[in-house]
Amino acid sequence: MNKKNLILKKTKQETKDTKTLFFEILDQDNFSFKAGQFLNLFFLDNKDGHGKPYTISSAPNEELQITIKKIGKFSGKLHEIKEGEKIIAQGPLGFMTLEERENKNNKIVFIAGGIGITPFYSMIKDVILKNTEEEMHLFYSNKKISSVIFLDKLNILSKENSNLHIKHFLTQEEYFGKNIINRRLKVSDIEEKLNSLKDTDFYICGSIPFVNDFWKALKDKGVNEDNIFTEAFFQG
Ligand SMILES: Cc1cc2nc3c(=O)[nH]c(=O)nc-3n(C[C@H](O)[C@H](O)[C@H](O)COP(=O)(O)OP(=O)(O)OC[C@H]3O[C@@H](n4cnc5c(N)ncnc54)[C@H](O)[C@@H]3O)c2cc1C
Repeated sequence: MNKKNLILKKTKQETKDTKTLFFEILDQDNFSFKAGQFLNLFFLDNKDGHGKPYTISSAPNEELQITIKKIGKFSGKLHEIKEGEKIIAQGPLGFMTLEERENKNNKIVFIAGGIGITPFYSMIKDVILKNTEEEMHLFYSNKKISSVIFLDKLNILSKENSNLHIKHFLTQEEYFGKNIINRRLKVSDIEEKLNSLKDTDFYICGSIPFVNDFWKALKDKGVNEDNIFTEAFFQG
């Protein structure tokens, strides 16, 4: 499998425990990816003996970005790499992309839990940059307002693009603001906002229980499996 050397150019602290790393691809020729795909990352010393998958949070025509929540050893080590240091990437990999949809006229619903926003951030920017005007709805669940990754950028994108609609759900904080709801997200919230669950493709990303629960809830509402695309990041 094709491996690339990446060199860290800069970082951006997104929330208390989440950082975006901006990379230059050293052997750039013929590297391309679809929004929603991920890379397996390896350290040069390879002491860990294996790589771990991380979604590309940039759109295909932006500088390569990966956004990482620090939750354990590998993600902690990624938070520590310094500007100018190299890591190895294998990929792109994964099939949770907008290209997999059968009917491009369908509305697009993104259901994200926490760090599960990364593929959708790439897809949203890609749709906007391609100017295809597809109707997109993001339902984004977080514990607190301070843990909402890309909050400002998402607000700007939805203000500037009438085809992007965003609703935030906060499970552990009372916070009053436009499009913010202080409770758990339910499938009925999505049904209500769209008036129906028909003619829609659903993308779900987050922890394994988050993805399983929404997949099952959509199926129970009669949504066809072919219209549901998922990626589960880790055990919640
Ligand atoms: C296809 C794919 C794409 C992914 N993309 C991304 C991405 O874009 N960004 C990203 O940060 N990660 C992403 N991940 C997760 C990533 O691959 C690692 O699993 C993650 O960084 C944890 O690795 P670790 O070694 O740091 O922690 P580990 O040592 O593996 O885990 C530490 C512990 O934290 C627990 N835990 C699980 N979920 C959470 C949570 N939400 N908060 C706190 N603790 C939790 C784990 O179950 C585990 O017990 C992706 C995973 C997959 C499969």
